[in-house]
Amino acid sequence: MAGNTNGTPRVIALVGPQSSGKTTLLEGILSRCGKIDRKNANTSRLIGDSSPEAKAREMGTEINVAATEFMGDPYIFLDCPGSIELAQETLGALQCADAAVIVTEADADRITGLAPTLKLLDDHNIPHYIFVNKVDRAIGSVRHLADAIKGVSERPIVVRQIPIRDGDEIKGYVDLAQERAHIYHRHEESKIIDLPDEIESDAKDARYAMLETLADFDEKLMEELLEDVDPSKDEVMKDLAQDLGEDLIVPVLIGSALNENGVHRLLKAIRHEVPGLDKLNERLGITGDGNTAMAHVLKTFYMHHMGKISLVRLLSGSITDADTFGGTRPSGLYELQGDQTKKISKATAGDVIGLGRMDDAKTGQTLFSGKSAGDNVLDLPLLSAVYTVAVAPESRNDEAKLVTSLAKLCEEDPSLSYEQTRDTHEILLKGQGDVQLQLAIDRLNSKYGVHVTKHRPRVPYKETIKKSATQHSRFKKQSGGHGQFGDVVVEVKPLPAGTGFAFDEKITGGAVPKQYIPSVEAGVKDYLSSGPLGFPVVDVGVTLVDGSYHNVDSSDQAFKMAGRLAMSEALPDCSPVLLEPIMHVKVHTPSEFTGQINAVISGRRGQILGFDGRDGWQGWDTLEAHLPQSEMHDLIIELRSISMGAATYEAKFARLSELTGKLADQVLKQQQAAE
Ligand code: GDP
Repeated sequence: MAGNTNGTPRVIALVGPQSSGKTTLLEGILSRCGKIDRKNANTSRLIGDSSPEAKAREMGTEINVAATEFMGDPYIFLDCPGSIELAQETLGALQCADAAVIVTEADADRITGLAPTLKLLDDHNIPHYIFVNKVDRAIGSVRHLADAIKGVSERPIVVRQIPIRDGDEIKGYVDLAQERAHIYHRHEESKIIDLPDEIESDAKDARYAMLETLADFDEKLMEELLEDVDPSKDEVMKDLAQDLGEDLIVPVLIGSALNENGVHRLLKAIRHEVPGLDKLNERLGITGDGNTAMAHVLKTFYMHHMGKISLVRLLSGSITDADTFGGTRPSGLYELQGDQTKKISKATAGDVIGLGRMDDAKTGQTLFSGKSAGDNVLDLPLLSAVYTVAVAPESRNDEAKLVTSLAKLCEEDPSLSYEQTRDTHEILLKGQGDVQLQLAIDRLNSKYGVHVTKHRPRVPYKETIKKSATQHSRFKKQSGGHGQFGDVVVEVKPLPAGTGFAFDEKITGGAVPKQYIPSVEAGVKDYLSSGPLGFPVVDVGVTLVDGSYHNVDSSDQAFKMAGRLAMSEALPDCSPVLLEPIMHVKVHTPSEFTGQINAVISGRRGQILGFDGRDGWQGWDTLEAHLPQSEMHDLIIELRSISMGAATYEAKFARLSELTGKLADQVLKQQQAAE
């Protein structure tokens, strides 16, 4: 039930693009709730992410938790980082939030950037508002803006306020549901005034548009509108609450977080309309047994001095600091407020708290009191990697520490991963973009004392052969006492693309004794890990057809060396060629950018396979292409810069393709220089 929280906090996620004013809005909210004194503060920023990484970038890099009370009811706000590269943090918060507020600037041209967030909220039925911020600056028509939002939202948009203007300045608003005009006052509640004559007709039209949308979900209201009956305010307020709670509509409110204008109105809407924990559990499909406490880990932090902290929302039951959770007893229960932690002895359903040192708990996992850790019962997507860098410790001694520290960072942020490659012998750090990866690198330094350098990852080129050959090679060494003798004849031939490596033998009469044949194969394979061009050789078939041995001097080792020798002598004559990996790429983009993105893919030597509407995404396209992996390193950066951050891609290995000409020469030159 909305409007009376019965002491169960409502959790509201503040989301939206970077610099739209989320943190400022949170400050405004806390100030309106009397939690901070902003009016008399001599510092501009009272709250927010205070980590060195965040300060250096002047942006939030992690969820910032703030608990407060408004009109006697508890609320927990989760200020989420705006950077698209840190979206996994936001996903975690949204999963457990009762509602979200998307904070946006009043720029119709930039609304496309909201599309992925809106889609996510729509797909997961998370009730959400749009707060159009910064109306203290000159802004264009709210209606025009609302039209732009309509283009990217599946749910109907309900404009609930229109601005009262004085020239370019917005000095107040008309509340369309309440039919009241308000004049803004900086850092104070707005004052009600009589509806100015000049806005009456606009207000009437806007109210009618709002009612028409509400009537789509309320037959009685529809009848009233058809019969020209003005519905009661209570009826309208009831519809607004119900429709928000069911995630049927997206209300749009306006204001200035900086001046705290429109903030009180937003809080009141939240208080009346955001549904409680039951609704969240219904949305998540969770049924508790009433006794077992259930907590969902929405984030994992590693804090100086305190170690690992799992930030959880308690979805049911209550816990004390003596309880075990997911099989482990937390080292403490903590209330978090920004970067401050306070030890508490108990928590109840709905709370967002930190659990100390839950070693096995992972972000996204559900923990049960008295039981072992559960599976991830919620199903928000895990973002797949779109940007990769290679990292290397500055000091060789730090190699092991680098890997354990990376494991911790990846636990904090599940959209970050690392991999030690076999082909190129690199440690790859994969994630959502350069900001996120650089953040991880900075944290390696500031939290774990590991200094690393980063570089563009090597492309895992391969090579193959175009011609067959028969090779007779003999490995023979006489160095006093025992000698070494291995003698082989092999046929080498190219195999169809994708076959890899095949070894066969056609030895007759024991020319090469059976026990040595695997050694020949081992020697052949050993050589193929780096062929004549310096890359692993693939799609080659080798058949051992003949050879000879020596009773005393032949050995496994000698035949291994003979196999290796045969390959090193044969392959340069088999027309070796360079192969580059080609990826099958699906680029998802708002349709307005499809043409531009097509050109980008072609410009990167991509072969366009076609495009179609993106499944389930109105107004989006999915473009499929084959693209050389060497062209993909900074692809995401270009896609985002074209599409206001909205476009993204998925890629998987497709095939290897021969690379010739100038590009091949460059690769070979670089390889020779590296050897
Ligand atoms: P976030 O990245 O979304 O958290 O954005 P911030 O809260 O850090 O705000 C980004 C910038 O916009 C800061 O310089 C704020 O002072 C400014 N800002 C935020 N809200 C308002 C507002 O209502 N009016 C104006 N004029 N500026 C604002």
